[in-house]
Amino acid sequence: MACSEQKRELLRCRVCGTEWPAARPLWRCACGGLLDLEFQAGFDKDAIRHGPPTLWRYADALPLRMEAKRITLGEGYTPLVPFVIGSRTVELKLDHLFPTGSYKDRGAVVMINKVRDLGVKRVVEDSSGNAGCAVAAYCAAAGVRCEVYVPAATTPAKLIQIRAMGAYLHLVPGSREDTAAAAMTAAGDAYYASHSWNPYFFHGTKTIAYEIWEQSHWRAPDTMVVPAGNGTLLLGAYIGFKDLLAAGMIERLPRLIAIQAAACDPLVQAFERGGKEPAVVTGRATLAEGIAIAAPVRGAQILEAVRDTGGRCIAVEEEEIRWWLLEMGRRGYFVEPTAAVVMAGLQRYLGGTGADESVTAILTGHGLKSAARIGSILEQSGASHL
Ligand SMILES: *Cc1c(COP(=O)(O)O)cnc(C)c1O
Ligand SMILES: [Zn+2]
Repeated sequence: MACSEQKRELLRCRVCGTEWPAARPLWRCACGGLLDLEFQAGFDKDAIRHGPPTLWRYADALPLRMEAKRITLGEGYTPLVPFVIGSRTVELKLDHLFPTGSYKDRGAVVMINKVRDLGVKRVVEDSSGNAGCAVAAYCAAAGVRCEVYVPAATTPAKLIQIRAMGAYLHLVPGSREDTAAAAMTAAGDAYYASHSWNPYFFHGTKTIAYEIWEQSHWRAPDTMVVPAGNGTLLLGAYIGFKDLLAAGMIERLPRLIAIQAAACDPLVQAFERGGKEPAVVTGRATLAEGIAIAAPVRGAQILEAVRDTGGRCIAVEEEEIRWWLLEMGRRGYFVEPTAAVVMAGLQRYLGGTGADESVTAILTGHGLKSAARIGSILEQSGASHL
């Protein structure tokens, strides 16, 4: 295996183009711009086949020092299962089956292993949801101090998982934006392990593309249906399939279909009017709290990725999300409401496509994360037989 080879790895600013060595603990450029990681991923099918049943089977495609002892909670290589929807059969990637209950572990495990390689002892993140849980868990495993900034108004139940992992919680009065600002200020003297800014997070979420490729008999599906807020999954999938394309492992990129809740759909609005930047929106309340991002920092990059693959952006209504949440339960899948968004979008997408198109959709978060909320949806729908 080529594991010990020194691979080219550098950070490039999306705004001014400056290149930074990956050995520096940077999360953004000196100009304030977003950084992308440039790195050549390697694929050896034989080595992959014989690798562990986790995302570490793609170690050669990850920007980490392989000789270092890795932090792992046994993450990745989640099942890909057929699912019948109307007259069609699609594949569902069960990414709610991760150690912390969401695919965010893909990003967190790579980012926090990198943090360890860099010798960083303290990280700061802002999230009240799944990213905070994932970063807190891997920091716990790595022995790195983790501080999570959350809006003061966040329901206490959502913070229990983060606290159970030993992370320090900072409650910030005001909006979600105030929380991000507080975290960025605190990050001045620590490392900002932000899932939307940090390029290593995306080089973890990209493993979803590798797994789907291997599990689809080394082929890429025609189409991938994914939720989009900050785009950590969508951009990860894009990077991953681009890696496979560059290595000659697939012939073309799957179309990326980004699903948003109509209550907060800056990407859909921009896509429909041909805009390069996300539309300015005021998000309304939505069941899809995991993707209720009014101003995604990588919004332009998401729109570029969707267009580059010939995909599109679709918005779904609250009623459809609620219906699909209940329907998934009736079919044995206990997922959180944000994951039901994908199913609603999938149904809309299939309405306009040919039957020979292969489609893979992602279930992103576990229902146990929001059991209380699902309980009230069941009550409202009269579906409980208590
Ligand atoms: C984070 C998350 C998403 C979407 O992620 P973005 O990075 O905001 O696009 C979707 N579903 C669940 C359950 C999540 O936790
Ligand atoms: Zn710059």
